[in-house]
Amino acid sequence: MKAFRKEVLVAVLILALAIVCGSGIQFLLTLQEIHRADQAADVLISETLTAVADYGNAERERCAAAAERMASLPQVKQQRLDDLHLELLMIVNPWSPLPEGYAPELATVVGDYLMDSRCAALAWQMIQDCSAYSGGLPMICSAYRTQEDQQMLYDNKVIRVMLEEYAPYEEALVRAAAEVALPGTSEHQLGLAADIIDEIYPYLNNFQETMPTQIWLSEHSPEYGFILRYPNGTSEITGIIYEPWHYRYVGEKFAREITARGITLEEYVAWRRGR
Ligand SMILES: [Zn+2]
Repeated sequence: MKAFRKEVLVAVLILALAIVCGSGIQFLLTLQEIHRADQAADVLISETLTAVADYGNAERERCAAAAERMASLPQVKQQRLDDLHLELLMIVNPWSPLPEGYAPELATVVGDYLMDSRCAALAWQMIQDCSAYSGGLPMICSAYRTQEDQQMLYDNKVIRVMLEEYAPYEEALVRAAAEVALPGTSEHQLGLAADIIDEIYPYLNNFQETMPTQIWLSEHSPEYGFILRYPNGTSEITGIIYEPWHYRYVGEKFAREITARGITLEEYVAWRRGR
């Protein structure tokens, strides 16, 4: 009986030893695997960094070469290139409706919001940078609109004016148009405009201008090619009320120039035509 117990004890000890050794080996193998994965990640990171640096260098060289080619072009051709960008200055206001059948190439800004593919990524970059540096919470609340979208917004506004201001229908049509553009005359249909507000104060009224988002955007939007399209006191020229939330893409060069001059898009285009 004693001998039997001893055998059992030895067997248990051997089993315990085997389990401990097995776990130890497993542990060492896992460590080795982690080490290998770590080394592979290091190689990948270093390869990626090299690729990014190479891309940056190539891009810089490409830009420098393009700038050199531009400078060597005769004046007339330079002007023609400049004119290509003028399409970005297209005016759409109560007196200048959208061209018939205008259909911009669209791209996603974020979520369901779309804009002209030439500015969608820039708009998103601007919003992200604003979020990082302004201390506000920028939020897009309108971007590209179809004719039907605009019609619905306008119809709703007419109804609200009639109900809230007790205006007769004919008068409501006119009053509504000062705040919501008539279908076919909204910049949002161009795909080049976005309404950006601060999540802290998500209302479309003049107080919006005091929000950190608007303070930052009014200063930095030209860096991304956008202008504050309807500045205070310009509604006689633009046909739209002061909208401290409505940003329009015109390209960086024009945006910087328009903002520096402190004029509206209408005035800038008139000035360019008269040059
Ligand atoms: Zn707008």
